[in-house]
Amino acid sequence: MTIADNLNKIRVTLPTGVQLVAVSKTKSNEEIMEAYRAGQRIFGENKVQELVRKWESLPKDIEWHFIGHLQSNKVKAIAPFISMIHAVDSLKILKTINEEAQHAGRIIPCLLQFHIASEESKFGFLPDEAEELFSMTHLSELLNVAISGVMGMATNTEDVSEINREFSTLCGLFHQLKTGFFQGNDHFREISMGMSHDYLLAIENGSTMVRIGSTIFGERCIAGK
Ligand SMILES: *Cc1c(COP(=O)(O)O)cnc(C)c1O
Repeated sequence: MTIADNLNKIRVTLPTGVQLVAVSKTKSNEEIMEAYRAGQRIFGENKVQELVRKWESLPKDIEWHFIGHLQSNKVKAIAPFISMIHAVDSLKILKTINEEAQHAGRIIPCLLQFHIASEESKFGFLPDEAEELFSMTHLSELLNVAISGVMGMATNTEDVSEINREFSTLCGLFHQLKTGFFQGNDHFREISMGMSHDYLLAIENGSTMVRIGSTIFGERCIAGK
């Protein structure tokens, strides 16, 4: 199976309106170009240095999505070109993104990451704290970020009912925010959830963006996790 074959196999399973982010972390420019030639334009990376290197050397019509945990001091390097930042997990980082976007003369689409998994290691806002947190801050003053929806990762488990529960929690949160705090905000429309092993469950639960790596490009070594 080639990368193009893998992509096509995934594409036929995606309903209209569900976008595919091809997660290319640790993969080479050659592998990315193979996906590019098969028509893929959205790629996801989780390391700033690696992303900048790829952005510099690959076609400029690629939309790069940052999907990892982002540190404040690294925002500046990606602000000029990043298409979406998926894992905004604090107001501090959101404010930094806003500042750097302003310097770059851009409005950067951002997703709020929620902690939905039972695993402790995952980043994100807690579902209970979100709305209160947002209403205490002046999100509307952050003119250079477009808060475009939510993102989350389910627990890495074989337990389908647990994964379903976590994805449906995220979907519920999205709708709560969409009809509450973000009411009337047209940007707020994405639910980024689902990876190689659970993306079909994510779609059943309302995902609008799946982030798929190993099913397209093959397994990564542990160092790339
Ligand atoms: C690596 C990664 C993915 C893709 O994982 P696969 O299991 O290879 O599909 C998706 N989302 C995030 C946040 C990741 O870090």
